[in-house]
Amino acid sequence: IVWFRQDLRLSDNPALQAAVQTGSPVVPLFILDEETPGIRPYGGAQRWWLNQSLGELSHAIEIKGNKLILRKGRADAVIAEISEQTDAGTVYWNRRYGPAEEKLDALIKEELKSNGIEARSFDGLLMHEPALARTKSGGFFRVYTPFWKSFVAHGDVRTPIPAPDTLPGVDSPPPSEELKDWALHPQNPDWTPTIAAEWCPGEDGARKALQSYVSTNLKHYDTARDFPGPNQTSRLSPHLRFGEISPHQCWHACHAPDANAGDRAREIWAKELVWREFSYHLLHNFPGLTKENFSAKFDAFPWQNDPQKLESWKRGRTGYPIVDAGMRQLWQTGWMHNRVRMIVGSFLVKHLLIDWREGEEWFWDTLVDGDPAANPSQWQWVAGSGADAAPYFRIFNPMLQSGKFDPQGQYIRRYVPEISQLPDKYLHAPWETPVEILRNAGVKLGETYPLPIVDHKVARAEALAALKLTKP
Ligand code: FAD
Repeated sequence: IVWFRQDLRLSDNPALQAAVQTGSPVVPLFILDEETPGIRPYGGAQRWWLNQSLGELSHAIEIKGNKLILRKGRADAVIAEISEQTDAGTVYWNRRYGPAEEKLDALIKEELKSNGIEARSFDGLLMHEPALARTKSGGFFRVYTPFWKSFVAHGDVRTPIPAPDTLPGVDSPPPSEELKDWALHPQNPDWTPTIAAEWCPGEDGARKALQSYVSTNLKHYDTARDFPGPNQTSRLSPHLRFGEISPHQCWHACHAPDANAGDRAREIWAKELVWREFSYHLLHNFPGLTKENFSAKFDAFPWQNDPQKLESWKRGRTGYPIVDAGMRQLWQTGWMHNRVRMIVGSFLVKHLLIDWREGEEWFWDTLVDGDPAANPSQWQWVAGSGADAAPYFRIFNPMLQSGKFDPQGQYIRRYVPEISQLPDKYLHAPWETPVEILRNAGVKLGETYPLPIVDHKVARAEALAALKLTKP
């Protein structure tokens, strides 16, 4: 049995390769486990992606002469049942690093062992496993740069493994459920068309996205990565999240002699791939990452409970164009540019004083790349409660960020069309626009576009005052 989890691919899949190398028939299995306590259910946008990705994986497995078995339920029970039905000798998987997942995998390993079945696990999710990185004193890293140094010191990233040529199956495969019966695709309403128009989930789509990226935009990464308008980052995050491509494949494509990029662009991009590893290092070593402040002094932070402001933020109706553009990009496409994630995150936590966990939950539900490690660790980073975090007192000014990173308003105009006729000068702070110019641009503040829900200066002062309460 090859149990697919966060690795929905046939190439560079160490568990699959090990199973195929034995020469025995293989039962490819995916389990939708929404029952094991602690395993975080997929967010809405991820469910859409998963549906597409499993469809692609099934198809790829069929072409290799086998069938993907789909089962819903508690993973331990399903594994026990399928191993009995198929008389399996070994179960193969690539390791995961969430606390509940690690516990479950250890339990399943024990159960299999007691039934005389071997469990073999591999490292396919990360380039170097999270437990490998240790500080001199034996602890884990809380700061990125020493983590990066330790990553490099661990030696070369292994070369990706090609997909097997064939995948011989068993004579009578166990029964499979139908993907469509899992209803992962939302109905009534089906809100996915604008998301679907943006993406090609699945291993083929991931491979093409990587190839295209290293031959075109990678070379601009060092200079262009912060500008959401032209959007020249790789957009590989959902593919990596579902394991349709491995970080090893990305790393080697980035460093390949034929990649069309200079050394600086390559290095900076490679370091982003290692931020992903750092997130998993944090999750593995601080299992409460999704719910607990990494820095305990934030436990005393006086978060505000303001459902109305939270809703304005979610809907992209704060009156701050760069924030609204980001939140609408998220809603419409299931993704948001990294610079804007930082701006909207900072706005929620520091301007609205709303708990980072609210933002993390919303991102989890709406991002196609919602990642169990990157999402909470990045939210904590933004909030100031996280490892190597931006200090809380450094409060992003949304107007300055917007003017710097979207100077011609290409991004704002795309997602906030109701103010698109404003001149560039006023686009970042419409409330400062003279009445005449507003009229000419067809903007009625408070009607066609909201007035700011908080005043920047007041909000900033309140945030700093709130911070004082957390000081030990
Ligand atoms: P590129 O810039 O092309 O980078 C390549 C890859 O490196 C990404 O695909 C991603 O896998 C990884 N990466 C890049 N930046 C980071 C980072 N800061 N932390 C961890 N990995 C990184 N990323 C997620 O994958 N899932 C999330 O749920 C997620 N939530 C975030 C929440 C907040 C508040 C913030 C500020 C950032 C979050 N990120 C998350 C990190 C980052 O925004 C995205 O990885 C990135 O925007 C994806 O775009 P890309 O694929 O074009 O990235």
